[in-house]
Amino acid sequence: MDVWTHDRWRFPLPQRHRFPIDKYALLRERVVADGIARPEEVHEAEPAPWEWLAAVQDAGLLERIRTGALSDRERRGLGLPWSPALVERGRRAVGGSVAAARHAVRHGLGMNLGGGTHHAGRDFARGYCLFNDVAVALRRLRDEALAERAIVLDCDVHQGDGTAHVLGPDPRAFTVSLHGARNYPFQRIPSDLDVDLASCTGDERYLQALDEALDFALPRAEADVAFYLAGADPWEGDRLGRLALTKAGLRARDELALDRLRSTGAAVCVVLAGGYADDVRDTVDINAATAAAVARRLCSYPEGALPGA
Ligand SMILES: [Zn+2]
Repeated sequence: MDVWTHDRWRFPLPQRHRFPIDKYALLRERVVADGIARPEEVHEAEPAPWEWLAAVQDAGLLERIRTGALSDRERRGLGLPWSPALVERGRRAVGGSVAAARHAVRHGLGMNLGGGTHHAGRDFARGYCLFNDVAVALRRLRDEALAERAIVLDCDVHQGDGTAHVLGPDPRAFTVSLHGARNYPFQRIPSDLDVDLASCTGDERYLQALDEALDFALPRAEADVAFYLAGADPWEGDRLGRLALTKAGLRARDELALDRLRSTGAAVCVVLAGGYADDVRDTVDINAATAAAVARRLCSYPEGALPGA
């Protein structure tokens, strides 16, 4: 299947920083090695033009990001050292989500091997997130008359405050976030539906909560496009998560999310969001399993032809 990546655009990080910069290249190699995507189906994302970003985020914030003029408070909140390379990479992450969303509208499903930067709001950029790729992608689909109504299903372990900030006032977008109750961000911006999960919630209770959240959200959203943030950080071994999902539980989550979103007839665009395992290969395993679940749902990939089938 076609996927988008921006892993070649790296940026300088201090030693032992928690941002998993290596995950993206390892994931690209993995999806090719596993036969999920052929090498020629892995596309390098173009940088999103500044006008696309300005359609959903504050011009002053974007100018401070572009020129490296973020305040000390903004720099601390972002948690990543500013560099021109960081900005270039952030724009390409958005470009990948836009391309994957357009592909989803055409083919039913699309996936960016990155994106899901859900802590970026209209006028703030924090928690490793510069730009809100999902909000930009939705705006592009609307401007290109490819979609109108949307649901955002955010299964990263952290609450989707930035997405709620941008899309909260939008009556044609329904935002759902399932997250650890006692985890970042500590000051929330409410989604249309927030599901606070207790620390150590395991597979069974998580899957039930997801199913119930979708029962509530899907009829209200009446979406023609869905964005699924398939965060790897609800995994039991994650450094920043507090839930206790197994890898099998995360696979079941992906399948439930994809099948229920698709059952409404919505196009589904999948983005990665977070994942902070001690060994980055565990995060890559989880992300690759998500990609395999997407590929199995595209008709060119028969059941049994892919790992995990
Ligand atoms: Zn997260």
